[in-house]
Amino acid sequence: MAYQALYRKWRPQTFADVVGQNAITETLKNALIRQQVSHAFLFAGPRGTGKTSCAKIFAKALNCLNLQAGEPCNKCANCLAANRGSLEDIIEIDAASNNGVDEIRTIRDQVKYAPTQGKYKVYIIDEVHMLSMGAFNALLKTLEEPPEHVVFILATTELQKVPATIISRTQRYRFRRIKQSDILAQLEKILQTEKIEYDEKALQVVAQVADGGMRDALSILDQLLAYDTGKINYQDALTVTGFASQKAIEELYLQLLQGQTDDALASAHQLLAQGASTRNILTELIELSSQLLLALRSKTDHSQNFLVSGLLDQARTVPESVLFKLIELANKGLHDLRYTNQQLIPLTVFIVESSQQKQPASAASANAASASQLAKLQAKIKALNQKIEAQAKQMPVPSQAPVKSPQKLHHHLENKDQVYHVLENATRKDLNSIEAVWPDLISTLAVSERALADVLKPVAASDQQVVLKCKYELWFERANKDTDLLGRIETELGKLTKHNYGIVLVADSAWLSTRASFLKTHKDELLAKQAAKEKAADQPAKKADPQAAEQVVSQAKALFGDLAHVKDQPAINKEDEDHE
Ligand SMILES: [Zn+2]
Repeated sequence: MAYQALYRKWRPQTFADVVGQNAITETLKNALIRQQVSHAFLFAGPRGTGKTSCAKIFAKALNCLNLQAGEPCNKCANCLAANRGSLEDIIEIDAASNNGVDEIRTIRDQVKYAPTQGKYKVYIIDEVHMLSMGAFNALLKTLEEPPEHVVFILATTELQKVPATIISRTQRYRFRRIKQSDILAQLEKILQTEKIEYDEKALQVVAQVADGGMRDALSILDQLLAYDTGKINYQDALTVTGFASQKAIEELYLQLLQGQTDDALASAHQLLAQGASTRNILTELIELSSQLLLALRSKTDHSQNFLVSGLLDQARTVPESVLFKLIELANKGLHDLRYTNQQLIPLTVFIVESSQQKQPASAASANAASASQLAKLQAKIKALNQKIEAQAKQMPVPSQAPVKSPQKLHHHLENKDQVYHVLENATRKDLNSIEAVWPDLISTLAVSERALADVLKPVAASDQQVVLKCKYELWFERANKDTDLLGRIETELGKLTKHNYGIVLVADSAWLSTRASFLKTHKDELLAKQAAKEKAADQPAKKADPQAAEQVVSQAKALFGDLAHVKDQPAINKEDEDHE
């Protein structure tokens, strides 16, 4: 039997199966029981939190011939047809690939006909924020006077891009990130049912990296199962999620906080031996310091955000100033790196200094032996610092060179130019045609590749290149290096779209900032170009190029979303209508 991905196999069939959204599923069930069903729903929330699943279950329940306390029976003819995806009265539209006005016009023409098999015609419009302005307007007209037998369920990951006029005509449900404990419980349930062995700690890593999305959690499990023996083990989980290095950094941090200088030096040397750079290590430590500071100041429990148990507790025992000092020392180390080709010296100086920070309580109890040890270390630091300074004097003053970006971010920056290049030539048409074949493309990949490809999403395209956003920063580097996978995606994309696109990868976080900075610098330029082209198009004598004008309009649209969205920010009264 062909391997069936867990996330497909375990897609919820009833509201009871939906994990971590009890408030929403209860409200939906009650509406069904009381037969008080609104004509339009809006499900908003992060990806993988159950929006589409709830929409499908709700659509099925609306048409179920034998509703069981608000749940679909999954036995009647309509439920069975719905589960097969062949109930004609449930119409699913992916706005990401159908953003034209035509599709919505078709809906407008068809809504007036009664359902054929079921009780309601249900339109599920996924990623509704992707609709064009024209399509939104057409949808609005239908939402204004919906026929009795029609229900719309709109789903979106980007509520802020849905026009307020649409939002105000819907009943809104806000899907939350699923709690780690809920994800963990569900993963255990699935693996126990599937009789698959697992390490508890491995599941914790998966639940943590899934970041509130059940679908992602299951995709990672699928990848781990493809790895080797069909067992979910801790080491694989660390490797696949990129958490191995994070764990090592956390261990190093704990040693620094505990003043274990020798152990910390050994850990750092091991990291260097494994290919990390000093820049890399110091940058990660700075990042970890800020995470710890945030966790310490937060009222909620963040202990699950750290892989090394006891790190957060240890951080609690020292004054905040120790963590700030550690950041300062790491920054100094990064600065010193500019003046030396030696990786080891700045790192050693940092580790000795930061692990020997005076801590009021322990300083008093320091015995004579450790005091002399301290004196020795301080002398050593002094010597090392002098060495750096001496080297600095020999080296030419860096010509106003900006501080090199940390290794971890380097790829993003390298890709930035490429991303800009795509954005400058982006067209909605190219993005649409890629999005249209994307699910097919993923399904052509091997299971082991699928999980990694699954975190990639096309977000912009020119007629030469496509920008793929990578959901996890940690996986970005992995995907970026996986030339086999990237090559295969390019080939399949070429086959499916009959067009050659090169791939530019960008990490999730970098994408938003890159797009924002691109828009900031290019918005006026684009609008000016557009105006100029439009003007030119009015004067045929000047060899107008209406196609170009259209291209700029679509370019602006592709980049800004529809311009109307920008000014039409939904003003939502959160307390008022949200169902949480
Ligand atoms: Zn049924």
